[in-house]
Amino acid sequence: MQIVPWSQVSSWRCNACGICCRRYDVVLKLPEWLSIVKKYGVKYTASSINSFLLRKRPDGSCTFLVEAPNAAFCSLQRTKPQACKLWPFKILDRPKFGSPSNASYRFGNRRLFIYADAACTGLTFGAPTHDFAYSVIPEFIEIAFGLRQNSSKARLSCSRSTNLVALEIARVFEESAAHIAVHRAYAFSLGYQFPLQFCLA
Ligand code: SF4
Ligand code: SF4
Repeated sequence: MQIVPWSQVSSWRCNACGICCRRYDVVLKLPEWLSIVKKYGVKYTASSINSFLLRKRPDGSCTFLVEAPNAAFCSLQRTKPQACKLWPFKILDRPKFGSPSNASYRFGNRRLFIYADAACTGLTFGAPTHDFAYSVIPEFIEIAFGLRQNSSKARLSCSRSTNLVALEIARVFEESAAHIAVHRAYAFSLGYQFPLQFCLA
């Protein structure tokens, strides 16, 4: 895991590569764990000594990850854990990696320290663009503070009709208590032309 300060990131946009959903453990807050258990059952979660986690498949991928030849998406849209929404950024109150000044970010009257996991393929490195510094980063801070649900850069562009289909699929996924394999079969049966609406961040 290579962590870089936000000041070394030029831009970010999720491309739905799915790497973050194949490599990492997702730690759940207690309300998130309760929500997922209530909706899908306890078998979709796991636990370690001091935390609740999303269960992984034998290949290491998240059990809620749905993959297609050219994209991957999360079938846990409306109950997606905050840890997933914040990926690949870490919003901290104190400096943790490298030089504090490189990670420092002023948000209102607060000083935060922001980092990114360089494994994310949606990152471009270099001097931050205006959009990244004043739009992307503030959105992630708002997600961290519970003021916002998702980053606007977490969604790839689709036509309106495609979006409607995607939203319908999300609704079916969310409301169904069926196993994720059923979700996946349903997605593929529909040609799987729609998932770009769904990002993993
Ligand atoms: S956030 Fe998006 S681009 Fe980054 S690793 Fe996850 S799926 Fe890939
Ligand atoms: S974004 Fe969705 S598929 Fe990816 S790790 Fe989180 S819950 Fe699983």
